[in-house]
Amino acid sequence: MNDQITINFLGAGVAAHVYSLVACAELGSESIRVTMLDRSHEVPDRTLCVWGEPDAVIHEALVAEWRTLRFGYGTQSFVRRMDRLRYQQYTAASIRALLDSRTDVDRLTGEAGAPDASCTVTFDSRHDDRVLRAASINLLQHFHGWRVRTNHPAFDPDVATMMDFRVDQSDGVCFIYVLPYGPDEALVECTVFSEVPWVREHYERRLTAYLRDVIVVTDYEIVATETGAIPMCDRIPLRDRGRSWIAIGVAGGLTKPTTGYTVARCIRDAEAMMRHYRQTGVFTSPAPSSRRFDWYDRLLLKIIRDEPAVVPRILWTLFRRNPIDRILRFLDEQTRFHEELMIFWSLPWLPFLKALVRR
Ligand SMILES: Cc1cc2nc3c(=O)[nH]c(=O)nc-3n(C[C@H](O)[C@H](O)[C@H](O)COP(=O)(O)OP(=O)(O)OC[C@H]3O[C@@H](n4cnc5c(N)ncnc54)[C@H](O)[C@@H]3O)c2cc1C
Repeated sequence: MNDQITINFLGAGVAAHVYSLVACAELGSESIRVTMLDRSHEVPDRTLCVWGEPDAVIHEALVAEWRTLRFGYGTQSFVRRMDRLRYQQYTAASIRALLDSRTDVDRLTGEAGAPDASCTVTFDSRHDDRVLRAASINLLQHFHGWRVRTNHPAFDPDVATMMDFRVDQSDGVCFIYVLPYGPDEALVECTVFSEVPWVREHYERRLTAYLRDVIVVTDYEIVATETGAIPMCDRIPLRDRGRSWIAIGVAGGLTKPTTGYTVARCIRDAEAMMRHYRQTGVFTSPAPSSRRFDWYDRLLLKIIRDEPAVVPRILWTLFRRNPIDRILRFLDEQTRFHEELMIFWSLPWLPFLKALVRR
């Protein structure tokens, strides 16, 4: 008798690879058989960052990591050194290479249809209209970045810039994100929270101004670019699409609405699912994130939508007045209620009161 666990993925993106790695770790590579169907098996040139302690599941795919984070606003900037946590960068390619080193994957090309009823479980990365809660707020985190190379030292390789608001704020909440790979090379990304993506020139204007005025460099070569958009909305998709047929990744609503970070949540979600399967023999989606965090996210989304001008000050204050590890755990929904009260106490309260009374 063949007692292998057959796992089929409809869509072979980042989430499919992350869930497979977790399945290898939790169920054993020798116990699973992984098949992935996608329109194309080309790997997107995508940088994927998470924060946390080294995670055994994906750590070997690490491309770079930083211990110190910078924030900027107005005319100031400050750095925070993390205590236990690290800001870690992976890529879609490094995650795929790690999976290929752990198990054989059958990769099929084509348009995905209904799941194969004979497999143990189907994980689906395709978007679908069925919801548990329709979106009442629909924003995007959209970005365009340059990987630049300079001919003299311009970056501090030990410090990643998580949010620098020292750029034109006239068209949506906008900040610059910098991942330095050495003193003369960095990914510099212009990120915006708003309803629609910008035309390329808008991001480029901010990037040029930031490099010139804040990094103080005008002589650089753009060696690669990255463009993307991630949903920032309060929609909750229906994840269990049928028996042992579960939506994952962005399609499964795993994106944190207020930050766009998805990978770390996929790892935790996959771990919960695989452990539940080990105990019960059943694959089902874990309970959605706590109502408290859902409520916080919706409140901040409302402020981003209705009062974007106050958002840079809120985010700056959040990082300025709180220990960095606490904020990162808060954004990962790992804090306790008393820590959250301390965080809220540190923030300008008027925008939150207005958001509470506004529909
Ligand atoms: C540029 C960019 C940078 C990001 N950076 C980060 C980051 O730093 N940290 C973080 O946590 N998150 C990040 N994200 C968010 C998120 O982690 C990524 O979007 C991630 O790729 C989501 O994985 P996924 O598998 O859900 O979607 P995808 O990786 O987009 O995969 C979906 C797959 O499904 C396939 N597919 C869809 N429909 C069909 C069909 N009908 N038939 C066959 N195949 C189909 C597609 O071809 C695709 O390969 C980023 C997103 C982008 C766009």
